[in-house]
Amino acid sequence: MKYELSRFVAAATLALGLHGPGIAQQTAPAGEASTLFQNVRVFDGRSGAVSGPTNVLVKGRTIARISSAPIAVDPNAGTTVIAGNGRTLMPGLIDGHWHAMLVRPTAAAAISGDVGYINLMAGAEATDTLMRGFTTVRDLGGPVFGLKRAIDEGLVVGPRIYPSGAMISITGGHGDFRQPFEVPRVIGGPLTRMEQIGGSMIADSPDEVRVRAREQLLLGASQVKLTAGGGVASPHSPLDVSTFTEAELRAAVEAAENWGTYVTVHAYTPRAIQGAIAAGVKVLEHGHLMDEATARLLAEKGIWLSVQPFLDDEDATPFPPNSSNRARQLEMVQGTDNVYALAKKYKLKTAFGTDVLFSAALATRQGAQLAKLTRWYTPAELLTMATGANGELLRLSGPRNPYPGKLGVVEEGALADLLLVDGNPIENIKLIENPERNFLVIMKDGKIYKNTLPR
Ligand SMILES: [Zn+2]
Repeated sequence: MKYELSRFVAAATLALGLHGPGIAQQTAPAGEASTLFQNVRVFDGRSGAVSGPTNVLVKGRTIARISSAPIAVDPNAGTTVIAGNGRTLMPGLIDGHWHAMLVRPTAAAAISGDVGYINLMAGAEATDTLMRGFTTVRDLGGPVFGLKRAIDEGLVVGPRIYPSGAMISITGGHGDFRQPFEVPRVIGGPLTRMEQIGGSMIADSPDEVRVRAREQLLLGASQVKLTAGGGVASPHSPLDVSTFTEAELRAAVEAAENWGTYVTVHAYTPRAIQGAIAAGVKVLEHGHLMDEATARLLAEKGIWLSVQPFLDDEDATPFPPNSSNRARQLEMVQGTDNVYALAKKYKLKTAFGTDVLFSAALATRQGAQLAKLTRWYTPAELLTMATGANGELLRLSGPRNPYPGKLGVVEEGALADLLLVDGNPIENIKLIENPERNFLVIMKDGKIYKNTLPR
């Protein structure tokens, strides 16, 4: 019986294509395909400068050799040779705060639209994301596991995705998208629409938080996302509120750490941020309303600040004028200059992300949003943030990292996610605002997805 049952399970597993939790899903093998970038100047994602003339050999999915001396290749090996002519080779960009499922649909469609349609929309957006030179995204909420799998299997062209799955919130918190008629919730009763599709989960006790966190880990989350304070985009959460209790946050932290990974929280205010740090949270998303004491605490504890250049400009998420969302947005963006000033003053570990929501047009400005950091940083600093530093943040997922290997750097042994830029972005950061024209080659996992160099 036991034998037959295990045979049945094995067969069903094969038939359904099921896979164990947290098991790395790799792209279809690139075989021993190889590419030689000749005569490029390398921005390596860590040092602030570009190298002298260099040659870079990619074999399979990793960078095999970097040398200022010529690298010989076997003419029969079918190596693709790219004549760089002194152009810049840099790591693929990483967006540290992305929502692959929520970029293109309107908020209403994301909540109530047809799930098949939303997935196809997200697939199309994923292709565009990669074609903007963003080879990896850290996804901070949304039912993204299917999209990630389709990309990893080569069904859809898109970036690597570090998924959080559903973001976990409380009743009335950021991520509770219910209408007033859906209150009260019957404890143990039917799930809300966003819970059914895996967009967000509502949890109102340590035990509920534990279940919801563990469910996301079961589904393959590389980190667990909770909303520790009010937000801009959701209907019911004033910006000033702190949401979870410390015991609730701690339950999520324990669940994540038992799986070798970490909890990150959405929070803006000192109270929400400090409560999360007290509970063992390792990464803070946003932080725009923080104060000196909170920044000092982040520095002391080595907490990552994953912050976005939110300003009241053309990149702001569109909300109706005079709406509560718009009022909260205006309140929040007033803190943006301050949070970057504190990040610099206290030398916080700082990650770059855009958090684009509900607008295909805004997504096209993903690189332009990075370039906007010149308001606070040098071009070399901001490029290092979106490559090497973001790559370091991704490694916090430990054994739950879906793409083991180094990302965000050009060095021997690192995963081969590379951009060939038509010029030097450290001298002219505007180059990254127009990826269609200026990113001539885009490589992910050793595979060339774009090459517009004349052949
Ligand atoms: Zn977000």
